[in-house]
Parts: sequence; structure tokens; C-alpha cells
Amino acid sequence: MTETPQVITKKRFIAGAVCPACSEPDKLMMWSEDDVPHRHCVHCGYSDTLNAQGQSIPTELGTRVNKPVVKPADPKVQGVQFFPNPKLKKPVDPS
Ligand SMILES: [Zn+2]
Repeated sequence: MTETPQVITKKRFIAGAVCPACSEPDKLMMWSEDDVPHRHCVHCGYSDTLNAQGQSIPTELGTRVNKPVVKPADPKVQGVQFFPNPKLKKPVDPS
């Protein structure tokens, strides 16, 4: 009795799983690559992976729909420094 090592990743449909993109049930395939779960919807082409926390990481498909837009810091706002105005210093008169 020889056991064949399962090196080939098996893609299988997940019964009852609903695609997060098109909400079609039973269209998601799931498989693992390097112990990373991958999902792919055969209906709309959506695919994602799951990170170590089990969170969905959408795969880049050319369009950035689900990515939060991270605004870079406005370079015009930076570098405002306030120096203490020496003229505002009241001379301490001990008399
Ligand atoms: Zn889909």
C-alpha cells in the first residue's frame, strides 16, 4: 500500500461558500499553496488568499477596487516650524 504524497494542490469547490465579490454560491474553488489558502471564483474571476489571521487578501486583478486608498503625506504641509520669538520675551527686571 503506497501513499502518494499530495504535492499537487487540489482545487475543490466549497459547498455553500458564497463569493464575496459576486455573491454567487458554490462558485468558489479553494486550494492551498505553501499552506496559504487560495480562493477563486469561477463565476466572476475574483480570487483572494487568506493571511495568517484568516483575513481575506484580494489578489491584484489590475483593478484596485477593494484597496483602501492610502494618502501620502502632503509635502506642502510638512516643515512648519515655530521658533520662539525672542521679542516676546519680557526682560526680567529685578528692580
Ligand atoms: Zn464571484
